[in-house]
Amino acid sequence: MGDIVDDAQELEYRLRTQSLACHRIRAAELVLENCVECGEPIPDARRKALRGALRCIGCQSELETGSRL
Ligand SMILES: [Zn+2]
Repeated sequence: MGDIVDDAQELEYRLRTQSLACHRIRAAELVLENCVECGEPIPDARRKALRGALRCIGCQSELETGSRL
Protein backbone atom coordinates (compact mmCIF):
# COMPACT_ATOMS: atom_id res chain seq x y z
CA MET A 1 0.00 0.00 0.00
CA GLY A 2 1.02 3.60 -0.40
CA ASP A 3 1.95 3.17 -4.02
CA ILE A 4 -0.78 5.52 -5.16
CA VAL A 5 1.25 8.50 -4.03
CA ASP A 6 4.32 7.23 -5.82
CA ASP A 7 2.34 6.63 -9.00
CA ALA A 8 0.88 10.11 -8.84
CA GLN A 9 4.28 11.66 -8.34
CA GLU A 10 5.75 9.68 -11.19
CA LEU A 11 2.88 10.66 -13.46
CA GLU A 12 3.30 14.29 -12.55
CA TYR A 13 7.02 13.99 -13.12
CA ARG A 14 6.51 12.50 -16.56
CA LEU A 15 3.97 15.10 -17.58
CA ARG A 16 6.21 17.85 -16.30
CA THR A 17 9.22 16.46 -18.12
CA GLN A 18 7.33 16.05 -21.37
CA SER A 19 5.94 19.53 -21.07
CA LEU A 20 9.39 20.93 -20.46
CA ALA A 21 10.75 19.03 -23.42
CA CYS A 22 8.22 20.76 -25.64
CA HIS A 23 8.72 24.17 -24.13
CA ARG A 24 12.31 24.34 -23.04
CA ILE A 25 12.79 27.98 -23.80
CA ARG A 26 9.68 29.05 -21.97
CA ALA A 27 10.37 26.63 -19.14
CA ALA A 28 13.61 28.44 -18.46
CA GLU A 29 11.57 31.47 -17.53
CA LEU A 30 9.30 29.63 -15.18
CA VAL A 31 9.91 29.23 -11.51
CA LEU A 32 9.43 25.57 -10.79
CA GLU A 33 8.77 24.18 -7.37
CA ASN A 34 10.19 20.75 -8.11
CA CYS A 35 13.37 19.50 -9.69
CA VAL A 36 12.83 18.24 -13.24
CA GLU A 37 15.34 15.47 -12.67
CA CYS A 38 14.27 13.85 -9.41
CA GLY A 39 11.05 15.69 -8.57
CA GLU A 40 12.35 16.81 -5.23
CA PRO A 41 11.24 20.25 -4.08
CA ILE A 42 13.69 22.98 -4.99
CA PRO A 43 14.57 25.08 -1.93
CA ASP A 44 12.81 28.42 -1.95
CA ALA A 45 16.09 30.25 -1.45
CA ARG A 46 17.54 28.54 -4.49
CA ARG A 47 14.53 29.37 -6.62
CA LYS A 48 14.78 33.01 -5.64
CA ALA A 49 18.54 33.17 -6.14
CA LEU A 50 18.42 31.30 -9.41
CA ARG A 51 15.35 32.41 -11.28
CA GLY A 52 14.38 29.63 -13.64
CA ALA A 53 16.24 26.96 -11.74
CA LEU A 54 15.00 23.63 -13.05
CA ARG A 55 16.98 21.31 -10.84
CA CYS A 56 17.68 20.84 -7.18
CA ILE A 57 21.17 21.48 -5.92
CA GLY A 58 22.09 17.82 -6.04
CA CYS A 59 21.02 17.26 -9.64
CA GLN A 60 22.51 20.54 -10.78
CA SER A 61 25.91 19.79 -9.29
CA GLU A 62 25.74 16.30 -10.71
CA LEU A 63 24.99 17.77 -14.11
CA GLU A 64 27.87 20.22 -13.90
CA THR A 65 30.48 17.85 -12.52
CA GLY A 66 29.38 14.56 -14.02
CA SER A 67 27.76 13.54 -17.26
CA ARG A 68 27.69 16.40 -19.68
CA LEU A 69 25.93 16.19 -23.01
ZN1 LIG B 1 16.93 16.87 -8.32
